[in-house]
Amino acid sequence: YKLNMEDLERGEELGRGNYGTVTKVLHTPTGVTMALKEIRLELDTAKLNAIIMELDILHKTASSQHIVDFYGAFFVETCVYYCMEYMDGGSLDRLVNVSFGETVPALNPGSDDEKEIVWQGVPEDVLARIAGSMVKGLRFLKDELDVIHRDVKPSNVLINYRGQIKLCDFGVSGQLEKSIAKTNIGCQTYMAPERISGEHQNTIGTYTVSSDVWSLGLSVIEIAIGQYPYPPEAYSNILAQLKTIIQDDAPTLPSDRYSSEACQWVASCLVKASNGRATYAQLLQHQFIQRDEAKARAEGGDAVDMVGWVTAALKFKEAKAAHAQALATTAIPQRP
Ligand code: ATP
Ligand code: MG
Repeated sequence: YKLNMEDLERGEELGRGNYGTVTKVLHTPTGVTMALKEIRLELDTAKLNAIIMELDILHKTASSQHIVDFYGAFFVETCVYYCMEYMDGGSLDRLVNVSFGETVPALNPGSDDEKEIVWQGVPEDVLARIAGSMVKGLRFLKDELDVIHRDVKPSNVLINYRGQIKLCDFGVSGQLEKSIAKTNIGCQTYMAPERISGEHQNTIGTYTVSSDVWSLGLSVIEIAIGQYPYPPEAYSNILAQLKTIIQDDAPTLPSDRYSSEACQWVASCLVKASNGRATYAQLLQHQFIQRDEAKARAEGGDAVDMVGWVTAALKFKEAKAAHAQALATTAIPQRP
């Protein structure tokens, strides 16, 4: 099916990144809801065509449970568009940017609902499922598509109400990667030390699989603790942050909330020397993930309740947004 703008009915904006906007759309001929990503580029038609061709390779490849489905790409004027699977739980950065123990008033305090909701964080079994899904997604990209993700971070890890975890925004198109020149690296970087210090130079060809492993480890910590793992002083100033990443000890999972296996697993991703980091095979063989595999095979009682967790997390997020809205409304300054 050839996608084009005329067949897409625009819905709400799902989010905005450094390079474009993501919108919920309805593909009217098929009735499929999709996420449309728009990337504004100043390129000529030949380059735009090359990008569309590279992206379209995804269309023909085998799919994975841990990668968002791809529906097609096209361009209009100088914007590249591609349609991917819509994930109704959104990205993990927005779902878990909450501190452990944070409390908000419940949405309907008058009803049977409890009066307030306390954020219980990400339990170890849920974290293991997320981490395992990410590794399987990354391994699929590498083994089946010969693609290195290059942009592993919580905003590129999506969840749905079925409790599935999938990766998006991987570097399938070299041309697209080059065009959105990553000069603006934002105020929180997930780049591995070797990319910063230029051991391999910060170019696309020399980015290695293990650079993704570093970003994976950092993302898993962020998902667990609800915030970017390096201290705030470090990200108020990008140069200071890069220096911190190179010089300081890598962050760790909080050992009071997670098992030593979980902490060890994350530590094996965050080895500063790229050749010392765990491989995907080792990460999957590790106890932390193997325990999850056993639970995934177990029916009933022992299974990880991903659906329950995502439902509770989205409920907390909704209550928090409603509370913030209420505060903003009452805080309108009064004239004396
Ligand atoms: P950056 O531009 O630095 O990569 P980002 O990943 O947040 O940051 P985008 O990729 O443009 O930026 O995505 C913007 C937001 O849209 C995401 O944070 C996510 O919440 C939402 N989003 C992206 N893809 C989907 C999708 N397939 N389904 C649902 N929501 C999505
Ligand atoms: Mg993204």
